[in-house]
Order: sequence, then C-alpha cells, then structure tokens
Amino acid sequence: MNKIKIMDELLANKIAAGEVVERCASVVKELVENSIDAGSTEIKIELIEAGTKEIKIIDNGSGMEEKDALMAFSRHATSKLMTDDDLYNINTLGFRGEALASIASVSRINLKTSTGNIGTIVSLEGGKIIEVTTGDARKGTIITVSDLFYNTPARLKYMKSLYTELSSITSFVNKIALSHPNIKFVLTNNGNVLLNTDGTGDLLKTIKAIYGIDLVKKMIKIEGSNADYEVYGYITLPEVTRSNRNHMITLVNGRVVKNAELNKAINDSYHTYKPDNQYPIAVININVDPTLVDVNIHPTKQDIKFSKMNSLTELISTSIKDVLKTTILIPKIEVRETLPTNNYVQSSLDLNRVLEPEPTYKAPIINNDLIVTGEESLDLVDTKQETLPELYPIGTVHGTYLVCQNELGMYLIDQHAAKERINYELYKAKLGSPKKEITALLFPLTIELTQDEFIILKENKDVLLNMGFDISEFGLNSIIVKTHPIWLPKNYEEKAIRKIIETVIQHEKNFDIEKFNEKVAINISCKLSIKANDNITLMEMENLINDLRNCQNPYTCPHGRPTIIHYSKYELEKLFRRTGF
Ligand code: ZN
Ligand code: ZN
Repeated sequence: MNKIKIMDELLANKIAAGEVVERCASVVKELVENSIDAGSTEIKIELIEAGTKEIKIIDNGSGMEEKDALMAFSRHATSKLMTDDDLYNINTLGFRGEALASIASVSRINLKTSTGNIGTIVSLEGGKIIEVTTGDARKGTIITVSDLFYNTPARLKYMKSLYTELSSITSFVNKIALSHPNIKFVLTNNGNVLLNTDGTGDLLKTIKAIYGIDLVKKMIKIEGSNADYEVYGYITLPEVTRSNRNHMITLVNGRVVKNAELNKAINDSYHTYKPDNQYPIAVININVDPTLVDVNIHPTKQDIKFSKMNSLTELISTSIKDVLKTTILIPKIEVRETLPTNNYVQSSLDLNRVLEPEPTYKAPIINNDLIVTGEESLDLVDTKQETLPELYPIGTVHGTYLVCQNELGMYLIDQHAAKERINYELYKAKLGSPKKEITALLFPLTIELTQDEFIILKENKDVLLNMGFDISEFGLNSIIVKTHPIWLPKNYEEKAIRKIIETVIQHEKNFDIEKFNEKVAINISCKLSIKANDNITLMEMENLINDLRNCQNPYTCPHGRPTIIHYSKYELEKLFRRTGF
C-alpha cells in the first residue's frame, strides 16, 4: 500500500493557505519533521552557507519505495494527515504534502531513499523530475536541497543575512531536539558542528548539548503535578539570566509550544530573585490530557490554548518557587583559566563565534557565570537545609560591603541590598495583613502637590484610608496627614508616608491593590535601607546578618540584585596560586 495518500480537497485547501516556504529554516523544518515521521532515531542536518547553498538531511528512518518517492513531490500528498480532526490533534507534528512540492518547485533536489531493499534516487529541478535511478539499499533517506530560490530571484532577495538564516535554523533544531531527546540530532554548517545530541532520551543531556555543561551545572530540576497537569523540567539559578525571553521553552506532551502566558508564569515565579527584565533559561515539559488543549490551527504558529490555564500557571509557579526556596542561591565567584571551547550555539553572541574565527587569546578570567572544571558530571545544584550559613563580620569596604567569613571562605554582603531585603519581607507581611492599629502624628504632616497629583490622590484616597492614613484636603493642592498605621518605622514616619503617597500617585492606572502593596513594600524598603557609605558598627553588622538569615529569600534584594556573594577558600587559594592547578 502507498504510504503517501492523497488528502481530501478541503483539507488541502486549508493547508495551502498557510503553507509557504519562506526561508531556509522552513525547509529544514519540513524535512526534519518528515524524518521524524519516518521513525528516524538519527537525523543529521548538514548546511552549506547557512542552508542558502545547500541543505542536506540524512536520516535512518523507514525510507520510501520508488512509487512513494515520486508521489512525495506531487501536491496534496501526505503520509500523515488524513482527516480534518487530525488537524487539531496535538500529536500531529505538522502539515505535509504541500511543503515538499513547494520546496521542490524553487530548488534543485536530490533524493536518495530506501526501505532496505532497492534504493531509489530522484533528481528534480524546479519541481520537475529530471532523473530516476536505483541506488544503494541503505535504509533511510538522504535529501539534498540546493540553490534554494535559484529560479525565483525576487524571493531570493528576501532571504535574510546568513547570520539570521543560521540563527533561525539553530533555534528550530534546538527546540526539535528538546522535543525528541530520544532522537540523535547533528547539525553542521560548513562542516562546523553546531549541535550534537546523544539521543539517549535524557532531557538534561540534550540541554547540555545545546547550552553546554557550564550552564547545566547552574540548573535545577523542577517537578510537580495536580489534577489536570504534570510538569517537569529544568530551570536556571536566578544568577543566570538572558536579556530576552527566547530561552524559556515549554513543551506540551513533548512538543514545543509558544505561549506568552506560560512564559510570564515562569518569569514571574522568579520575582525579586532576579531583575524582572532579565529572563531565565528554562525547559519545562507539560503533560496533559490532549482534550484539555487546543492547538492553534495556523500551521506556522506553535501557539496553544489550555482549557484550565490557571491551574497550569499555578502549578508551574509553585513548582519553581518551591525549588528556589530550598536551594542555596549565593553566587560563587569562580576562577576560570581558559575560555570554553565546546559551547555550542545558542545566543546570538555564541553564533558570532561560529561565523567568525575564535579569539585566540586565553587569559584567566574571574567570572561568576561560567565554570569549567573539566569533569563532565551532570550533578545539579544542591538543595539546602538552611538558607544562609553562619557568617562572622570583619569590617566593611568602601562603606558598602560587609566582609564576612566562615570555614567555607569569604563572603561579601551589600549592606544596602541586604537591609532592603529585610525591610521588604517585613513590610510585605505588614501590608498583606493590615492591622487597623493606627497612631496619630505628633505634628500633622502637610504635603504640597501639583494640581494633577492632587487630583489623582483624591481619586485614590480610599487606598490610603484603608491603610490607616487620616488624610484631608488642606488648602489649594495640599493635603494634611494626621494618622498613620502603627507599623511605620519610628523616626522614619515622614519618609515612609511621602514614599507611599508618591507610589499612589505613580500607580494611577488600573489600580491593583496587590501590585500596589508590592510596590510600596519595595519603595519603602529601599528608602529606609542603609545607604552606601553609612558606616555601621560591628554589632549592627551582626544584627543585619541575623535578620538576613531569617529572610525567606536572603539572596537578593527586592529588585533581584544579589545581597551576598561567596569566595570559597578553594577559589581564594587558586587566585593566589596556593594550589597547583
Ligand atoms: Zn535600593
Ligand atoms: Zn534593590
């Protein structure tokens, strides 16, 4: 029986609307997905000039008989989608038929394929079959697409730079490799290996092949389940972030999907552990009953709709928060002797390295991001019993950093950031369960505002009343504050009141009390923290450290910046060359 069947007309038209071969990456995508459908366990993608000259895919899949091989290039041929319902099935990889015919029409193709018996070789040019011969019987398919768009110069012009083409191919292959850790993927460009996964089915090993061992060592495992969903995967420590969202990867039942809400849930779970505009690297698998999801029917989009979204974001959020809470998150300063050489492409920065010659200098680098230790174990970060170890302060440097020590080495604490964290957790708790206890100011405080500030404040007066402030108008564009909640810090009442009022004024749009409280907590904790160059006594240092140790998250200030860093004894010895290394 023919493996490639003819689809019904209706479905074909539906697909035709969206299916266009635009770029090298869309060709790679179609061909790789065909190889996956053919049951391949090894797929090699060889590019010349980022695929603009040649794209060659070698697989060990089922291969095709001659009849199927010829049929594969006719329009509306498919081996996969047969009914309209299939279009909505999450397990269906993509759309078939149109694509191969479209690719063939704008390139030169050489197809060698065999089911293990006699091999078939088909050559096409601009979609026309030039030659059909027999070839060797190696099971699988080798398809070579050369000179893409050679016969459509107008389209060729739209091709982006080699850099962009390669970057989108890499990004696609990385994602498909993450979706199929049990398939070995090799990607090369002009003979340089960009990705080489082992196909053993181990997700972490696939992540390692993509991001490198150094990054994997800074990842933590997350796991969780509820009535509707099951999640598991790996996320980076808060100290390792990227400036774009591209490295938060979510898979649903093993397929990469794009969903802004999921990304937001992942990123928000790190709130105050890292700056909000820096993003983690995360690979998270979501297992769900396929009837709970609805794939966007547009074939080029990977978006998806979940019928119980809240239940899912809640699960992701608690899974991440739980693991952050139980992991020691003090960034370690580590000495690196050489530049890493085996980090494969991921960020655009790394891509530059692939397209341009490697720098040849090698200098010792002090770096708190990457470590090279030589050994290749995939031990992840330890989980902890306690948040911070005992620390003994020695003094301050630059009036800002407390120098501390214990048997594990030296620690530096940023006194402003540390106090800010302590304040933040305190005020957040106070604001979260407001006691109605209020107290009168000895001298009522008058605050002058501009006309528009005054109007905004008047509109949001209830917020302040609910917090325990007695506020009334006092002349033109001025207010008078007579009482305040009792938890405002002694001697800093005025500072705190001014900061809170400022926050109300800035927060006019879409008022949300929870977000407002969060902002108030952050603002007053910064305002009331110790400044840099405020010299504090040894006793005050000890108190500060103790208070920090009692925090839920002692590692970062509410803005996500580190409060503490660690120089281990070993690293100090390395820096001073006291150890042979
Ligand atoms: Zn601050
Ligand atoms: Zn801060």
